[in-house]
Amino acid sequence: MKKISVVIPCYNEEDVIEVTYQRMNSVMKDMTEYEYELIFVNDGSKDKTLEKLMNICKSDSNSKIINFARNFGHQIAITAGLDFATGDYIAFIDADLQDPPELIKEMVTKLEEGYNVAYGKRKKRKGETIFKKATAKAFYRVLRNLSDVDIPVDTGDFRVIDRKVADVLRNLKEKDRFIRGLVSWSGFKQIAVEFDRDERKAGETKYTLKKMVKLSLDGILSFSSKPLLFSVEFGIISCFISFVFLILGLIFKFMLVPDILIIFTILLMGGLNLMCLGIIGEYIGRIYNEAKARPLYTIDELINFKDND
Ligand code: UDP
Ligand code: MG
Repeated sequence: MKKISVVIPCYNEEDVIEVTYQRMNSVMKDMTEYEYELIFVNDGSKDKTLEKLMNICKSDSNSKIINFARNFGHQIAITAGLDFATGDYIAFIDADLQDPPELIKEMVTKLEEGYNVAYGKRKKRKGETIFKKATAKAFYRVLRNLSDVDIPVDTGDFRVIDRKVADVLRNLKEKDRFIRGLVSWSGFKQIAVEFDRDERKAGETKYTLKKMVKLSLDGILSFSSKPLLFSVEFGIISCFISFVFLILGLIFKFMLVPDILIIFTILLMGGLNLMCLGIIGEYIGRIYNEAKARPLYTIDELINFKDND
């Protein structure tokens, strides 16, 4: 019998986690031709998420917990789930029911047809702010233009992958991970399954602006080195403009430029300089991060993982 592992990252999800468990569990039970496990990764929650998950695990041996020693972030939580998953198929799904668990069935059918990855593509996003929708839309398109890998637009990490892809991902040890990009990078046969993204069932988004910026930078910087080219282009353009001014100044023997324009130009060039340095710094920071070679996460406790106890 084939087995499906469902990986559910949880960070401060006490308001929704029990409902999520009920719904996921009934979807998985309905798929009688498969064995399953639900791997909850508690990503350093500060509320009662762990307590509630422990209660669930007491009465259900198919539910397991990887309890992180602190908050490591969504992408790392998924990675840990993947490391411990034993299924033939592995599903990644959010804990807030924004991604409908029922769709896992349809995704698994695609894998049975011979695809290696079935990923959720968001047609509509309900209950999210205009700011979030607009920035997400812009981000996916910028990424698409910059990246050398074909990363599909408007897709999150909600997807089912097979063992082949899982093994490839498990061998990628990079620290600043952008998993949906890595899945695309791996190749294999991939297909989109469209859905309307529901609103969060309870609680607030755990993706703060800071975390969103980090994820976007990880996406862009680990799949493209084109931002470095911008620095070169800015440099060439500003040299060219300065030569034009020099020649004009020599021809007309004076430079009738008001002070304000000079101050503006100096500040603009200073700003562009800092921006270019920042871009280079971001890449260097990531190299530094890799060089330290720390583990991706630390685990406080594993619950219901019989082989690992
Ligand atoms: N999450 C996590 N660690 C974090 C932030 C979020 O494990 O540091 C989980 C969260 O519990 C949820 C998923 O990642 O299951 C997606 O987060 P959220 O729904 O808050 O993001 P949004 O849907 O608003 O982008
Ligand atoms: Mg959400």
